[in-house]
Amino acid sequence: MMTNKEKYDALYAQFEIKLRGLLPRLPEKYYAISVNYTKHKQGYFIEERTISKVDIRGVPGWYKKVTKIDIERLRIFIDTLVEPKQKDIFLHWTIGNTSAADTLEKVNEGKDCAWQREHLEKRLAELIELYSPREGYIRCSYCRKQRKPEDIIYDTIISPNWKNSGYKSPPRPYCKDSPCAGYDQMGHEG
Ligand SMILES: [Zn+2]
Repeated sequence: MMTNKEKYDALYAQFEIKLRGLLPRLPEKYYAISVNYTKHKQGYFIEERTISKVDIRGVPGWYKKVTKIDIERLRIFIDTLVEPKQKDIFLHWTIGNTSAADTLEKVNEGKDCAWQREHLEKRLAELIELYSPREGYIRCSYCRKQRKPEDIIYDTIISPNWKNSGYKSPPRPYCKDSPCAGYDQMGHEG
């Protein structure tokens, strides 16, 4: 006699086989732009992500204990699965202690993720240009872009965060040519 959990797992294995049949053959890995200021001086870098698992949005799961209803929902899901959309297909990866997933749509798009490392190099250079700390530049407190001092204005934010100084922040740098200061004020209002 199989337990509900065993039945669910057996059905899930069927789901994986069916899904693989519906998907195009995917490479084993892809590339993504990631950010880590501890490991990389400029923060942004291109990371290689090996696909550990592929699944799709909305696969019925279970909570605490597998019930007959969970199994039935999974069965119906598999039976009605026809042609999953790219935005609903998740490519899972694990690097060190981090596990996450990107959609197939995002990887095919080739902006922040791509099948080829070269496709991300231009975007990487843009991000470094905009956001990496640079000598003689000031970082906007809202959008975090690096700006020349002449493109910066200073503004104060009113928020309970600065209770001890009359609810007013010390002057903070913002982009002069965009509403970053206003957006930051809104962000500090509950
Ligand atoms: Zn800004």
